[in-house]
Amino acid sequence: MSDDTHDPTVELERIRQDARAHLEWLRDAGVSELEAARPGERQPLSPTLSPPRGRAREAKPDERSALSPPRGGARETGSDERSTLSPPRGRAKETGSDERSTLSPTGGEGTGEGAARRYSSGDKGCGSAALLAIREDVGECDRCKLGPGRTKLVFGVGNASAELMFVGEGPGADEDQQGEPFVGRAGQLLTKMIEAMGYRRDDVYIANVVKCRPPGNRDPEPDEIAACEPFLKAQIAAVRPKVLVALGRFAVQTLLRDPTPITRQRGRWRDYEGVRLMPTFHPAYLLRNPPEKAKAWQDLQLVMKELGKVPITR
Ligand code: SF4
Repeated sequence: MSDDTHDPTVELERIRQDARAHLEWLRDAGVSELEAARPGERQPLSPTLSPPRGRAREAKPDERSALSPPRGGARETGSDERSTLSPPRGRAKETGSDERSTLSPTGGEGTGEGAARRYSSGDKGCGSAALLAIREDVGECDRCKLGPGRTKLVFGVGNASAELMFVGEGPGADEDQQGEPFVGRAGQLLTKMIEAMGYRRDDVYIANVVKCRPPGNRDPEPDEIAACEPFLKAQIAAVRPKVLVALGRFAVQTLLRDPTPITRQRGRWRDYEGVRLMPTFHPAYLLRNPPEKAKAWQDLQLVMKELGKVPITR
């Protein structure tokens, strides 16, 4: 098999695509000029890009309708919904045919045939011993009623020691199929946002409040959040990011236990167990409401500043 890792043509095409995605996000966020190489000079964003869309694109049915600002008030999460880092272990279900079937080092999570999957640091989101231990603890989880309906459990993805971590709500249809968070249209937009901040997608860590897709893309329910959130909490403790970006009302309200609508929480620094947390809009909401991209970009520039990255745009 040929290795095109060092093929300059492939690399140039990758750079071109990255640059285009970066510029498209900036354009949609309302940026019209970039700082030129020489101090004090600016240049138009890009004459080759199409102009910003004038109206919202319609979201596909598989995008999270729940991620728009709350309808008729936010769901309140009570203190009794806080859960510990060690959720109760559920009964493991049978692994899929694409999953390895050796015994789990954690034991006790066996399938009906007594074999549980063993995970490795090469699995998505498992790039450290701490994350791997959490993944093994999750196992083929059925601790809540979302477990039986999933195609793939979506644990997380990215750099195990990222300085920047994004938290969303839960998997949609694409994520459920691929076993990776933020891979649908909203995920593609998130990738543009990450790259516009000066990172690559694999520089950051991405996870969700719940790891299995709610049926019909409904909102996760309180008992499901309570069952799954301890894993997210453990992932945050394992990655130890400098900054968390909470995407959309569910992530923001769940992490902060604050029912204030996302429209009033975004853009203001908060604290999550000693980690700086920036609430902002969910990419799926931004797909439905493109004018709001400018506000999200303001929020992300605050994050860039916090992380010592100089915003390159005006
Ligand atoms: Fe387990 Fe979380 Fe999936 Fe519920 S959503 S089955 S708690 S991994």
